[in-house]
Amino acid sequence: MNREKRTAIYRRLRANDPDPDTELEYESAFELLVSVILSAQATDISVNKATKILFPKANTPQAIYELGEAGLKPYIKSIGLFNSKAENIIKTCRLILDEFGGEVPRTRDELETLPGVGRKTANVILNTAFGEPTIAVDTHIFRVANRTGLAKGKTPLEVEKRLTKLTPEEYRQNAHHWLILHGRYVCKARKPECGECSIVDLCEYRKKTLAA
Ligand code: SF4
Repeated sequence: MNREKRTAIYRRLRANDPDPDTELEYESAFELLVSVILSAQATDISVNKATKILFPKANTPQAIYELGEAGLKPYIKSIGLFNSKAENIIKTCRLILDEFGGEVPRTRDELETLPGVGRKTANVILNTAFGEPTIAVDTHIFRVANRTGLAKGKTPLEVEKRLTKLTPEEYRQNAHHWLILHGRYVCKARKPECGECSIVDLCEYRKKTLAA
């Protein structure tokens, strides 16, 4: 895909949604961190439902640490993998208190020392909480980037590196959210809605479902 086409895709995604944001509900970097850890293999809706009850009771590393695993689990038990997520969140709170003065760290290396935080989660925090132009490649972005031809790659890391390099600077900050939302609502995994897609003429996917 050439630069003109790539730019045209982002221009259209921006026109559809000039100021995109995560669908997770949060008020601080720490709340976002907890929400993103909880969202692994779970929907944002299910996470929001749980945090709506949890955060008014405990929304700081100290307060959640004081709940302990046993105290945290009842709030998150409707979310998949809640046992391991509870363990990771409590360990993360401990580390934030011990090593980072109670604040969510701002560098990738530091973020990745937190239990339950891998490269993708670190990218989300850097982008959405701290305004850095990182692109976190989840299953939606991986699919959209490969189908459209925006950035082809065999692994999420390959796609991330290519997207970061090839996305024009003015679109890099928001690319993450545009591509996730496009994948979630239009370029769906099983049946992409190509007939409703605003970038259908620019997308290079060979198996477009135009009959839809
Ligand atoms: S045309 Fe189809 S395959 Fe291409 S981005 Fe749109 S929905 Fe996805």
